[in-house]
Amino acid sequence: MKAAVWYGHKDVRVEERKMPVPKKGEVLVRVAWAGLCGTDKHEYLGPLWIPVEKPHRLTGETAPLVQGHEYAGIIDQVGEGVTEWKVGDRVTASGSIVCGECEFCKTGRKNICEKLGFIGVGKDGGFAEYVAVPVHQLFMVPENVSLKAAALTEPISCGVHATQQIGDLTGKSAAIVGPGMIGLSCLIAAKAAGAKPIYVIGQGEGKREFVEAFGGIYIDGRVEDPIEGVTKRNGDLVDVSYEAVGLEPTLDLAVNLLRCNGTLMIMGVFSSPPRINMNLIQEGERVIKTSQANVNEIQDVLELIAAEKLDPMPLVTGEATLDNIVKDGFEAICAKGNEHVKILVEINDGLK
Ligand SMILES: [Zn+2]
Ligand SMILES: [Zn+2]
Repeated sequence: MKAAVWYGHKDVRVEERKMPVPKKGEVLVRVAWAGLCGTDKHEYLGPLWIPVEKPHRLTGETAPLVQGHEYAGIIDQVGEGVTEWKVGDRVTASGSIVCGECEFCKTGRKNICEKLGFIGVGKDGGFAEYVAVPVHQLFMVPENVSLKAAALTEPISCGVHATQQIGDLTGKSAAIVGPGMIGLSCLIAAKAAGAKPIYVIGQGEGKREFVEAFGGIYIDGRVEDPIEGVTKRNGDLVDVSYEAVGLEPTLDLAVNLLRCNGTLMIMGVFSSPPRINMNLIQEGERVIKTSQANVNEIQDVLELIAAEKLDPMPLVTGEATLDNIVKDGFEAICAKGNEHVKILVEINDGLK
């Protein structure tokens, strides 16, 4: 089969690779569409988490590996012991690879499994014609949801999971620092959870239309001080802030946007440990919460799309084929990351 294989820093090769064989408890999925995530970009410019020298703690695998953890497709084979899924089922999947044995796996919190890994990082993922997937990761795609739309549910579900960690958001004001895919997923989720108003802070005008399309108030940090901009419109600082970038200055902004007793939600991936104004956090009894990936929230997102309460397609800002994934995918998000929200890769054409 054809696959985009990660070999190292800026070295992804589209080449023939052996077809994966589904193990016990796995299915083989023929991939229709797969999304490029900020994490894939970090690995392209990295490595960040892809095991290079030391084998992955759960899978025992090392690079070269196939990336891609946001995808949808059709079940092509089922492995031993799989009874609840059948060939022809239209599916999408979460990315977590888990041990199934630790306290968190046993209490329904597999996203914080003590040995957590990700498909497309610790094991071959969806930038390939076929991917082997453990059944605990699978979600059935409703008939009226396209596989293309389903490929967008994993990143959106990260915002839904984060928002559910915060608690009741009804009538609460919120600010999101960073209007990328994860920031927009937080906007979609916070709006669905009843937060109002929701400010989204970015740099430049490129993301304004996306923020406004999903019901947020955009503030361009290049022309306006974001803290003044929020307080002027909101009459106060906000109840909840999301950091969705992963840099020290954006973290500092997210902290400074919070009222006393407000909640900070950390979504960004930091490539080096940031400093944080802990005195400001402590003196106002502000709360720091964090969120890791998703558990069952892909189901919630599929239902929102099926009920026509959410149209995720405006998030797609670019498309690539598997053959052109390096040029139209990885290089495009590196060169024009500020313009893109989501680039989708058509892996096998003609799958609906
Ligand atoms: Zn991702
Ligand atoms: Zn576990």
